[in-house]
Amino acid sequence: MTKINQVIKAIRGMNDLLPNQSTLWQQTENKLKAIAQHYGYHEIRFPVLEQTKLFKRSVGEATDIVEKEMYSFDDRNGDNLSLRPEGTACCVRAAIEHGLLYNQTQKLWYLGPFYRHERPQKGRYRQFHQLGLEAFGVATPDIDAETIILTARIFQALNLKDQVSLQLNSIGTIETRKKYAKILTSYFSQAEHKKQLDEDSLRRLTTNPMRILDSKNPALAEIIKTAPKMLDHLDPSSKIHFDKVLTYLNSAGISYQINPIIVRGLDYYNDTVFEWVTDKLGAQATVCAGGRYDGLVEQLGGKPCPAIGFALGIERLILLLEAQTDFVPVSQAPDAYLIIAGVKAQSISLKVAEQLRALYPNTLFTMHCGDASIKSQLKKADKSGAKLALILGDEEVEQQKITVKYLREEKAQKSVEITSLEFK
Ligand code: ATP
Ligand code: MG
Repeated sequence: MTKINQVIKAIRGMNDLLPNQSTLWQQTENKLKAIAQHYGYHEIRFPVLEQTKLFKRSVGEATDIVEKEMYSFDDRNGDNLSLRPEGTACCVRAAIEHGLLYNQTQKLWYLGPFYRHERPQKGRYRQFHQLGLEAFGVATPDIDAETIILTARIFQALNLKDQVSLQLNSIGTIETRKKYAKILTSYFSQAEHKKQLDEDSLRRLTTNPMRILDSKNPALAEIIKTAPKMLDHLDPSSKIHFDKVLTYLNSAGISYQINPIIVRGLDYYNDTVFEWVTDKLGAQATVCAGGRYDGLVEQLGGKPCPAIGFALGIERLILLLEAQTDFVPVSQAPDAYLIIAGVKAQSISLKVAEQLRALYPNTLFTMHCGDASIKSQLKKADKSGAKLALILGDEEVEQQKITVKYLREEKAQKSVEITSLEFK
């Protein structure tokens, strides 16, 4: 057989997460999970593959995601499946399927990979990660405000408060949106506006005119800005709901901007929608986005159930953290590097290493494996960034002690019992 020497690479837009980044990811994810739990949310995990019709029916046929971003294929049984492009639809599917939504408030979170076939660039990938939170069963505006306040706490906890700002809008009910869509269609159909529309927007004019407001084409910014506003067409109950959300946010001291052109790229939203945006990531401006979706549960076959949620893009969050001027990469260095010298020492090295790990459970030990001189082991210890080299030689074995050598400070080495090591 001929040997093919071509190196196989990862799929475009799908990233490996390497050890020099994984610690920051873990720390960040742990903070996010802790905040979700703190607010009474519980984790749910669902598959990365779902039936394609789930997303068509929820996200909407005339959306970027369903029209051009999904990874869909027929499996061996001929079922059409898609890698999940977002989590809300999956979460609702699972919650209905397992009866989580009957007469109760259900608060769920998830964190994991999602897939969209987009043009890869900084902050935009084909596999990316989201933290999602979904609260089911509450129709009142207090939960809208609590959800938003929770997102504010996330940015506060990560010291990113100054890098992001909150934008809010209300897109009203599905019924008022239908009326508004007609108003928008006639606005964008006026000759002087229509001639400025790009290909995507011309198509949307017939399929889903509100999507035009979501366009990222800067050439359309002006006619979008002067378009009629949904906020001016809300029915009284939506208006009252939105005003209450704002009142709660004001009393909690949350700053926001009302942005009438936020419509969100998915069809299931109603009333409150919000985005946390940044000017630090170019066109990838939205870090976190969400809103209310009171009709989705019923649309997917459940009993009517009000709901609100959001998704936070982890890659964009990490980019923001790394862009901080005072950002210090998280240390990967072990606390101690265990050096083994001599035949007797070698024979009990693993036992001693295990004793050390049991005695000091919150420290990171690297034990040297493989034949090497003390000198070369010391070099490796130094290179590892460890604070201490712990030397286990035959003499130490006899005395039941270990020699501590300080690698990062001017301090004489000493022999101590293994129970009295200090790592500070
Ligand atoms: P955008 O307008 O940037 O395309 P979106 O409106 O499609 O975002 P949502 O579907 O609301 O995004 O997803 C929520 C969050 O997930 C986004 O705010 C972003 O942080 C993140 N996200 C979405 N798509 C990607 C992607 N392709 N790569 C990295 N992060 C993404
Ligand atoms: Mg998108």
